[in-house]
Amino acid sequence: MPTCLPTVLRRCHTCASDRFRANGKFRVNANHKLLDAWLLVLCTSCGETAKLTVLERTHVRSVRPELLDRMHDNDPDLAAELLQDPVVRRRNRVALDWDNAWRLDTGGSDHLAPGWGLPSSGGAESLGKIDVSVRFAARIPVRPTRLIAEGCGLSRAEVERLIREGSLVSAVRLTGKLSDDFTFTLKR
Ligand SMILES: [Zn+2]
Repeated sequence: MPTCLPTVLRRCHTCASDRFRANGKFRVNANHKLLDAWLLVLCTSCGETAKLTVLERTHVRSVRPELLDRMHDNDPDLAAELLQDPVVRRRNRVALDWDNAWRLDTGGSDHLAPGWGLPSSGGAESLGKIDVSVRFAARIPVRPTRLIAEGCGLSRAEVERLIREGSLVSAVRLTGKLSDDFTFTLKR
């Protein structure tokens, strides 16, 4: 789940930094019946403001009133939604950096037996297998091996070994990055 807005990667024309942050502010211009609207982003280095186009000479009647209200209210949730919209990113030629802007919520550690991930000892064999589903609260590209390691208290190397051994299986490819919900099964 996101913990804050991601960094917007875009070249600053003032200081050559390439990192901007949205603060949830919008600017809307009306020219007769045509609207332009931008999401404002600030250079993290010099504070210069840049504008990401949301609406471009769009007839007011084709804009949902709710969207306009949210822009006038400088709704930070709308900023988050727009940044996650690939159409908005493509149009503005920006990418996102989600580092330090999300966290894994495992709902506590009760789901894990003590020593899970260690060589089986005591009653660990009775665990058999666990099925885990991972839900993305936002489309944040993350390595599933990193999520599984963190969620199961394993090292990345252990996770990669379990995948190679066939003890960790999924219908999706666990190598590379994912940003969609997936499930996996961990067998003992
Ligand atoms: Zn700058």
